[in-house]
Amino acid sequence: MFTLKISIKVGLWFSLCILLIEIVSMTFLHRNLVHTRIHQEFDSLLARGNSHSGVLEINSDSHSLSHIGLMGSQSDAHVVVTDTTGEILITSNKIDRSIKDILDKPISKSNLLRNGKIIQDDWKNEQYIATVTAFNKNGKISGYVYMFKNTDDVQKLISQLNKHIFIASILILLTILFFIFFLSKALTKPLITMKEATKKLSIGDFSVTLPKPSNDELGELSLSIQTLANDLNYLKQERNEFLASISHELRTPLTYINGYADIARRKNLDEKDRVQYLDIIQEESQRVSSLLKELFDLTKLDQNTFSINKEQVNLNNFIRSIYERVLPAYKNKGIQLVLDCPSNILIDIDPIRFEQVLINLLDNSLKYSNETGTTLIKGVKQNGEVQITVKDQGIGIPSEDLPHIFDRLYRVDKSRSRATGGFGLGLAIVNQLVVAHGGEIKVKSQFGKGTCFTIVINQ
Ligand code: ADP
Repeated sequence: MFTLKISIKVGLWFSLCILLIEIVSMTFLHRNLVHTRIHQEFDSLLARGNSHSGVLEINSDSHSLSHIGLMGSQSDAHVVVTDTTGEILITSNKIDRSIKDILDKPISKSNLLRNGKIIQDDWKNEQYIATVTAFNKNGKISGYVYMFKNTDDVQKLISQLNKHIFIASILILLTILFFIFFLSKALTKPLITMKEATKKLSIGDFSVTLPKPSNDELGELSLSIQTLANDLNYLKQERNEFLASISHELRTPLTYINGYADIARRKNLDEKDRVQYLDIIQEESQRVSSLLKELFDLTKLDQNTFSINKEQVNLNNFIRSIYERVLPAYKNKGIQLVLDCPSNILIDIDPIRFEQVLINLLDNSLKYSNETGTTLIKGVKQNGEVQITVKDQGIGIPSEDLPHIFDRLYRVDKSRSRATGGFGLGLAIVNQLVVAHGGEIKVKSQFGKGTCFTIVINQ
């Protein structure tokens, strides 16, 4: 289907509105000008008729009459003076058919005629417009002064006015159209830029740079598109880095597996060595499967395809059962594990998912602590919030790494993590699970001194 460009559409709408406004205002102006002009003509005709009749009231002898006749013949208006019976006393010009018709019309003898009266006002169709003024003698009407003006002059005047208004309208219209052309282009330019930007986004090109947005709705839209493009770009980079890290993570164990499988296949190999190599292969394949399991968990968390089945649990009992499970490992490493939680705190959580959260944090405390020190698990309830803290006196996290430790596959010390079996996914999972519970997790750490994770859940 034929689609109009937005700039043309905007331009057309503007032009239509301007055209309507112009037609209405020009019609109004034309009517007013014509009205005023015609009234001026009538007023001037009446004024002249009244003035002649004033003269005749003072002196109506033949000299005055011929003087009035002469004045009429020198001006653009005809003068006819009659007596009360209609007898023509003087005329400035030849009396034609149209003048005669008007003269023959009966007129009211009212005194008002002394101020003059319009007796022919149809300037459009008749040849003359006309007025009549009575003049008195001894308190009685003694005659009439008729004034005639040819409507050709008026019509010529009006047609000239029409021509001027027409030319002015066309000039105004052309000027406005010229401005509308640039205005609609300027107005729609940001929209077109945004359309092109979104087109680029839709084909996966996120390197979109929109001009600095203006301070209006279009500016807000442009800013939103720019933010979206930046986010998508960031996500794309993050995904690429994530995929690169995963392939790197998988490559190391698979290289081991491949290499040791080759050696273990050798015929002349000592049985003890073969078992050792097979153990390594098993260990590495377990590593791969635990990486895949953690990745799978994260994917499920990402897609929200897991459900949180909350139930009310007693926090002390809940933490204690976990405490007892991890205690042997802590004892084994010589680290003290302390539990501090009042027995009356109730909390709405999914116990299976939340257990994963605490186990991950406690595992980390154990992994990243040297053979001394204490780890504290504390639960408190204050101001409607339940806070669960896991605080250790381990190796700590350098401040520059702190903002990233909840990122996927982020590890502070890769070699140490590898030795402890970490992939840098544990805290990412913990964070997702806490957020899914409607809570948040914060971390404080001092490198070389210890780390403290605090989970805050509104209850
Ligand atoms: P990993 O499986 O490598 O432990 P995590 O996501 O659990 O991955 O942790 C990310 C990184 O944060 C770890 O590699 C480690 O460097 C650091 N970290 C996590 N917990 C602690 C802690 N309690 N003490 C010191 N460093 C920690």
